[in-house]
Amino acid sequence: MIPAVSVVDHPGPLRVLHVEHNAGDAELCRAELERSGFTVQTTRVETAQEFVDQLSSDSYDIILADYRLPAWTGLDALEVLRQRELDIPFLLGTGTMGEEMAAECIKRGAADYVLKDRLTRLPVAVRAALHERALRREQARIAREQREREAVFRMLFANNPMPMAVFDQETLGFLEVNDAAIAHYGYSRDEFLEMRVSDLRLRGDVPEVGELLRELKARGGPIVYTGETRHRHRDGTIKHVIVNWHSLRFGTRDAILAVAQDITERKRAEEALKASEALFRTLLEAAPDAILGVDQQGKIVFANAAAEALFQYPVQELLGQPVELLVPHNQREAHARARQEYYRNPHLRSRPMARALELAGLRKDGTRFPAEISLSPMSSAKGALTIAIVSDISERKAVEEEIRRLNAELERRVESRTRELEAANRELELRNREVERANQLKGRFLASMSHELRTPLNAILGFSSLLKEQMAGPLNEKQARFVEHIHHGGQHLLQLINDILDLSKIEAGRMQLHPELCVVARLLPEVLSVIQPLAIAKKIRVENILPDDVTVYADPIRFKQILYNLLSNAVKFTPEGGEVSIAAAIVDETVRLEVRDTGIGIAPDDLGHIFEEFRQVGTSTTGIREGTGLGLAITKRLVEQQGGKIWVDSKPGKGSRFFFTLPLRPPVPGGAALPSQRPSSVGRRLRPLVLIVDDDPTARELLVDYLRPEGFETLTAASGPEALTLAAQFRPDAITLNMLAASGAGWNALTELKSLPETAAIPVILVSVIDRRQLGFAMGAADYLLKPVSKQDLLAALRRHVPPSPGNKPAVLVVDDEPYDRQMMAEVLESAGYTTLTAAGGAEALRVLAGLRPDAVLLDLVMPEIDGFQVIEQIKASEDLRDLPVFVLTGKDLSELDMEALRRDTRNFFRKGLPWKEELLKQVQQAIALQDAGSAG
Ligand code: ADP
Repeated sequence: MIPAVSVVDHPGPLRVLHVEHNAGDAELCRAELERSGFTVQTTRVETAQEFVDQLSSDSYDIILADYRLPAWTGLDALEVLRQRELDIPFLLGTGTMGEEMAAECIKRGAADYVLKDRLTRLPVAVRAALHERALRREQARIAREQREREAVFRMLFANNPMPMAVFDQETLGFLEVNDAAIAHYGYSRDEFLEMRVSDLRLRGDVPEVGELLRELKARGGPIVYTGETRHRHRDGTIKHVIVNWHSLRFGTRDAILAVAQDITERKRAEEALKASEALFRTLLEAAPDAILGVDQQGKIVFANAAAEALFQYPVQELLGQPVELLVPHNQREAHARARQEYYRNPHLRSRPMARALELAGLRKDGTRFPAEISLSPMSSAKGALTIAIVSDISERKAVEEEIRRLNAELERRVESRTRELEAANRELELRNREVERANQLKGRFLASMSHELRTPLNAILGFSSLLKEQMAGPLNEKQARFVEHIHHGGQHLLQLINDILDLSKIEAGRMQLHPELCVVARLLPEVLSVIQPLAIAKKIRVENILPDDVTVYADPIRFKQILYNLLSNAVKFTPEGGEVSIAAAIVDETVRLEVRDTGIGIAPDDLGHIFEEFRQVGTSTTGIREGTGLGLAITKRLVEQQGGKIWVDSKPGKGSRFFFTLPLRPPVPGGAALPSQRPSSVGRRLRPLVLIVDDDPTARELLVDYLRPEGFETLTAASGPEALTLAAQFRPDAITLNMLAASGAGWNALTELKSLPETAAIPVILVSVIDRRQLGFAMGAADYLLKPVSKQDLLAALRRHVPPSPGNKPAVLVVDDEPYDRQMMAEVLESAGYTTLTAAGGAEALRVLAGLRPDAVLLDLVMPEIDGFQVIEQIKASEDLRDLPVFVLTGKDLSELDMEALRRDTRNFFRKGLPWKEELLKQVQQAIALQDAGSAG
């Protein structure tokens, strides 16, 4: 398009460079131009040099040049202009120029020519030249702008980060691709230019490119298209793209500029979102609890199937409704307030928290149900939401109620069962007391029975022995045999009674053991001295292969009894000329003793029974069933009570081997303890005390005279009962007991001494005119001396049985009229290592205290006749006893006055029924230690 340029309106003066040697001609031209309306400014030059100078120093609208110049021509000037590439219209003026010349000039670039004789044409030519120049300039500007625009577009294309390509509409072949396309698809530029746009597409994807293009073209006008498709890259990956098409001319061709946008990531994200939304939906619908989404205005924005089922509203009906629709009327206001509050401070409200709030839900039909609601804030595209999970807890409430009911029921039952049990306990306690009483009765029965049996038995034994010795006149042979039978039978009976007593004592737990460390070889001779006569009579050799130094930790009396039982059985069941031996070995921490014989042995079937009571499985080798069948039963219990074992190894005809074990040494303190004290003395006597029992005063006097100068304390008793009382009270270190002639009272006394727990352990030295050694030992005597007794024999026997420094265990006097309490207190003290002596009342306590001084006194307050307070009074009044530590253990309700007195006069007082054991023991120990320290200092 050529812009309209009005030359008439040439702005400002027309600047003319006039190449002319004739000034008049130049003036003429000027005049002509001005006449036609130009304002003219003319610069005239003549030489080429001047022309060149002007061109480079000034700018002109037009150049007029004369053709014929003195040194050069107008054509030369035109040549200069052309070389300089200056676009200034050039007009030639001449007088005689032919047509040919003029054409040459135009050809060389002149705008026109004017003949000098037709100068009126000059302004027209000038105007035309100016017009042409203006046109030329405009075209150049347009072309430049076009070029610039194209450069921009090219740059946009080349540097665009989006893949771009140009393809031919006819062939679909690529004509151009940008760097982004090369980078994106992985094809080189050359490869692209060999390809067609359809090659990028996935085969089979519709619409097919050619077809699509035809369709678009058919619509007419420029093609503009946006569509989604899939492209395959050189490496095989497939991308989702959106393509934009624009038709354009590319050179001579109709082409399409295609821009691709990779949307694979977006697609993927969209799909993931879709999947998670689907999952969310599924979860929502599958949830067993009602789930509601509520927006900030309290409107329900979603609800699941469970919500529909719970509230009985179709979901569609719920959407957009205020959530208070589902809340009972009377709670709505509070609910709305709470909801607004919740939105101000959204937080997770979990089940346990929800549980504390007793909430209710309202169904469409107006019924209510107890509900538990947990809340959690959620942000969504539509703003903040609250997710409410609602569950109907009526069932749980019912279950809880049921549990509460069951618990209450259970409690009630437990209570009634407890009451029943308590009643049963009381009943049991009563029974226990009855059993206890029955046991006591049994004990008493056995004691009196044995006493009752022994009395006539004594007569039988005594008189039969007198008869046997033919003191009352001679007997014929038959009579002598009969008497022998009577005597033998009597002895057997006595043994039986003793055994039964032993057994019942063990059974009742009344067999008190006093173990000490004994040298086995020292205890054996006593036993052998009893066994030997029998063995000699049967020509049985008894071999002692005991090592000299083997010790055993056992009650020596019971140990001897065990040995005696086994050895006498061995002799009994071994035929004449056989052999019996006793041996010992140390195995681990025990002593294993073995009594072996070459006797008749025991049948395998019987081996398991011989340790049972009254089991006699064979006949003795003398042909009759001697013995009681209790020996082994007692032996077994004695062994086991002392922590040992007994067993037998025997074959009929081959003899028997009886084994038993006992501890080698005392148990370590703190370990399982055997009763370990030997109440050989009361209090802490400085000298050993011997009780002398004899009905003959001179005999008593004699023994007292023997012992006093030798450092013994003595006590005397004239009868068995007196001896028993004194022994129980003073616990002498030894007793000498006269067998009191034929009356049998001595045996009685011995049996009683051995059966009373307090006196059983006191060694008894029998003193007799007749030699009943065997019987004596069998009944538990420690030694047997024949009258007349020499001082040396007596002292030797005492030395054997009385420890050199008697009673170095502290002794506590226990005073209580309640036998059980007394016994229990004594046991507590004894198990803590004290010796105890007991008094059954205040009077007895004072009697004991008159004779000796214990290390402490444990006293009950309420006792008949002389009570505890009186005992304390007496103690405080006595010079010797004043600082004796006194402890009180009482069930009495104490008045203030009582307590004051007790605080003043006793170490401490304890209440029966409250825990007292440990504290009492601690304080007794302290008190005694203090005293010891005092007396030592
Ligand atoms: P008894 O008073 O009859 O000896 P024990 O309890 O001591 O009673 O023994 C039970 C039985 O064991 C005996 O009667 C006897 O049959 C058998 N017996 C015990 N010791 C031996 C032994 N050394 N040899 C064979 N039999 C024995």
